[in-house]
Amino acid sequence: MPDCIFCKIIKKEIPAKIIYEDDMVIAFEDINPQAPVHTLIVPRKHIPTLLDITTEDRALIGHIFMAANNIAKNKGISVSGFRTLFNCNKDAGQAVYHIHLHMLGGRRLAWPPG
Ligand code: AMP
Ligand code: ZN
Repeated sequence: MPDCIFCKIIKKEIPAKIIYEDDMVIAFEDINPQAPVHTLIVPRKHIPTLLDITTEDRALIGHIFMAANNIAKNKGISVSGFRTLFNCNKDAGQAVYHIHLHMLGGRRLAWPPG
């Protein structure tokens, strides 16, 4: 998608602090971190929202969570704990319409979220 900021990061057209990438996903640091660890895991495939996922994407979604599993261990937040989430549409405050799994950790996170 030409106007998608995350597609531009994937194509290396704009910079990001990339911490992991493979043939299916890329992970980079959130530009406006809400916790000491705030990483975004993004599929290379442009999927606008969680509602656009199809059965074809099953392996990809599993792969995103396997990346989260590995990143949590590498970042040293697996024991202390962390949160993963997808924001979907307006009420969740989705700002970038290319799905991305937020990984937040490194501090105590409030629940319920605001
Ligand atoms: P969401 O509200 O779930 O769509 O989250 C979008 C996230 O992307 C926010 O946490 C932003 O801080 C983050 N973000 C936006 N632009 C960039 C960028 N160029 N590099 C890294 N993170 C970004
Ligand atoms: Zn995109």
